[in-house]
Amino acid sequence: MRRGLRFAVGAVKLRRLRLGVGGYLGVGLAAVGLVVFVGQVLASRTTRAAVEAVHAMQAHDEPLAARSGAIVEKLAAYDRTVSELLESAAGTDTAPLSAAERDLDDALDAYFQFRGARALGAPAGFSDRIAHHLAVGRSLIGRARDRDAWQARRRVLLDGVRRRIASAGGEGLPVGGNQLFARRSLAELDEAINQLRAEPDTGPGASSAEARMMSLLRAHEAELARSPGPAWLELTRDDVHEAARLRARIERFDASHVPERRAFLEDGAALLVWAQTHLQAPARFALAAAAERAAAAAVSAEHMLAATGIAVVIVVFLISGVLALRITLPVRRLTAVTRRLAAGDREARAERAGLAQIDELAESFNAMAGQIAVVERELRTNQTELERRVAERTLELDHLAHHDPLTALPNRRHLGATLTGAIARARASGERFALLFVDLDNFKSINDTLGHTFGDRVLQAIGERLQTAAGPHAFIARLGGDEFTVLLEATDSVEAVGARSAKLLDALQQPLTVDGRVLSTSASIGASLYPDHAPDADALLRAADVALFRAKDLGRNRFAVFSPDLSDAAASSFRLEQALRRAVEAGELLLMYQPQVALHTFETSSVEALLRWRKPDGRIAPAVEFVHIAEKTGLMRELTGWVLRSATSAVTAWRAMGWHHASVAINVSAPQFFESGFVEHVAEALRVTGIPASSLELELTETVMQTGPATLSALHRLRELGVAIALDDFGTGYSSLTSLEQLPITRVKLDRTLIEGIDASPRSFAIARSVIALCHGLGLHVVAEGVETPGQLERLERCGPVTVQGFLLAHAVDSEAVPAEVEAAGARARSLLATARAAAAEEPEQGALMFVTPRRVLPR
Ligand code: C2E
Ligand code: CA
Ligand code: CA
Repeated sequence: MRRGLRFAVGAVKLRRLRLGVGGYLGVGLAAVGLVVFVGQVLASRTTRAAVEAVHAMQAHDEPLAARSGAIVEKLAAYDRTVSELLESAAGTDTAPLSAAERDLDDALDAYFQFRGARALGAPAGFSDRIAHHLAVGRSLIGRARDRDAWQARRRVLLDGVRRRIASAGGEGLPVGGNQLFARRSLAELDEAINQLRAEPDTGPGASSAEARMMSLLRAHEAELARSPGPAWLELTRDDVHEAARLRARIERFDASHVPERRAFLEDGAALLVWAQTHLQAPARFALAAAAERAAAAAVSAEHMLAATGIAVVIVVFLISGVLALRITLPVRRLTAVTRRLAAGDREARAERAGLAQIDELAESFNAMAGQIAVVERELRTNQTELERRVAERTLELDHLAHHDPLTALPNRRHLGATLTGAIARARASGERFALLFVDLDNFKSINDTLGHTFGDRVLQAIGERLQTAAGPHAFIARLGGDEFTVLLEATDSVEAVGARSAKLLDALQQPLTVDGRVLSTSASIGASLYPDHAPDADALLRAADVALFRAKDLGRNRFAVFSPDLSDAAASSFRLEQALRRAVEAGELLLMYQPQVALHTFETSSVEALLRWRKPDGRIAPAVEFVHIAEKTGLMRELTGWVLRSATSAVTAWRAMGWHHASVAINVSAPQFFESGFVEHVAEALRVTGIPASSLELELTETVMQTGPATLSALHRLRELGVAIALDDFGTGYSSLTSLEQLPITRVKLDRTLIEGIDASPRSFAIARSVIALCHGLGLHVVAEGVETPGQLERLERCGPVTVQGFLLAHAVDSEAVPAEVEAAGARARSLLATARAAAAEEPEQGALMFVTPRRVLPR
């Protein structure tokens, strides 16, 4: 526990020593942060000084300048107001003067009560001068008001004098467009007063007009004292005197007032200059100085900011450089080492860089490089071993690819290469060579009856036998199934090929013992010659195949050489096969049914289902035209289910239509019968349609029946089901009587060739009659096929209970027509026989007839 703690502490110390990428980035960021902080502090200090300077200017110098300006402005306004009042006639209104005085007082108060001005102190004598100036102004205005009063008084007096003169008759009376005066003195006075009133208030005009007025009064004194009277005269004389006195007073005032007013204005101008120099100018200077100070502070703040920015950039550059050196260089070194390792340098190792992560990376890299080296050594060892094995296996595969695994003989591919070589050699030497196709006869039935394993052994034995018989220089290949090819070089004539083939056929015909079982086998051979029959390997193979086809056609154990007309036959059979396949897909195949009439009852016991092909042109082709191809190509096998289903459901239909004993016979060829599950197919068809098994008959030929124990067991199983079995085409090929005896059959169908001559040749009739008797003797029913003449019918009737099938009674018809055709066929038989009997009765007797009743009649 304590040791663990010590380790942990040690690890922490170690880690502290080695900074990682993150650590370096952290330190760098911290340094940048510090520089930014210091720069920020310095810059904010200088900017603050600038801001303070501006503030001081705003708070002190600007107001002081504004207030001193206001004093100057109000002073000028006051002087203007006084001048205006003096100029104007409305001198009596003193309100503007009081307002101007108040404004000036306010401006003075505002200035002197301001903090800065108080500090400066008011200039000595300034207030007294102002007060004096204001008093002068006020007195100027006051006296100007007296003058106005005097002037008004004088006008009133003159107007009174004039009215008095007029009321005394001074104006005269208007008579006939002329003024008619009562007295000349009054008229002269009236004219003089009007002249006096028209003169301005001061000046020489006014004083001379007054003087004339006085002299007229004096001149007419006596007259006037009588009328209008002495009181009138007294009043008038006083008023004129008073007006003259007032004029003198106004003139005296005017004489003294103008200089006083000028003095007042000059004093005002001096005061303005004084206020500008002592109040406004210092304030303006102070404002300018403050603005300069603020500008200087702002400039220094700007410099400080620029310096900080530059410092930050420098520090960032420095830190980036350091980081690049500490991180990028080690990473690059590591990359270079990795490249070396990838290029194959297994000794490449990474150095430590002092940076935690990069060191870890370097350590891991070194560990990996070590491991790679170890693994590579192991790999190299394994690879050598693997290459050895691959070489071995390649050889094996090569052998497999070119050989048939069953017989170890060369395969088709190997044959192709060998053929190409042989063609080249033959071309060079001018020699010919032969290619043989060897095909076992009946190998399929060996396979089917004895099993595939046994079949494989047979193929191996045949391969060995071929090898021995063909000799050491022949090249033998197996192409698949029971097909072998033999390449015989330096074979230069058809005769030589024939001789070699005969030798091979002979060897293959010898009894073969496999697993203790003795087999008799045979083969067919088709041959082609190079260059006579084909110019290349493919064509040569095709030619041999065509020849083999021909050999098979000839019968078993035969040999044939290619000829061009064989090729045509092969081509047409190929075309037929293709057309037939299309017909199956298009549903062009159908079944037709030919009635079989029992002569002793004139009833149709059954119909034979015959395959037909409805050609696109509407013609219905008989089975004989295409069934051999269908059987050879395996198509027939594919049709088994369809034939079974169609025929059995047709039976159901006929029974429903009133033919109660309807039954059908179906032809089954070897490939169909040997198909696995054939018996099950039959059982299934019976189960599905529900018809009785006895109403179904299968027609098989001897070639099918003689193939071995498997066939026999299948036949027995069919019999157990209750299905009838007929031996078809009896009397052709190698019919053997043992078949009749041993096989589980119910009927025999005599071939047309056996019936053909019975009405013309007594010998033929005798043979047919014996065969029928023999069958009857074995308890078998007999059907005579291909009955075409009434004579044949009549003779068959004489052979006991025989059933007849032939064009004479009925052709094959389609399913719907069957019930009617069945009736018609019976009737035809009856009438034909009656006629034939009558005719025969006239002919001489041809020989005694022997009737044999069937010994064992199997249930139908
Ligand atoms: P097959 O089993 O011997 O059938 C009888 C053949 O004889 C039929 O020919 C039929 O039309 C013909 N025939 C009947 N009466 C006369 C006659 O009076 N004169 C002559 N000259 N011929 C007569 P088809 O239909 O051409 O059949 C030929 C062969 O094809 C059949 O011989 C049979 O082996 C095979 N075949 C027909 N239908 C089938 C089928 O459904 N399955 C199998 N596997 N083979 C069939
Ligand atoms: Ca038949
Ligand atoms: Ca037949």
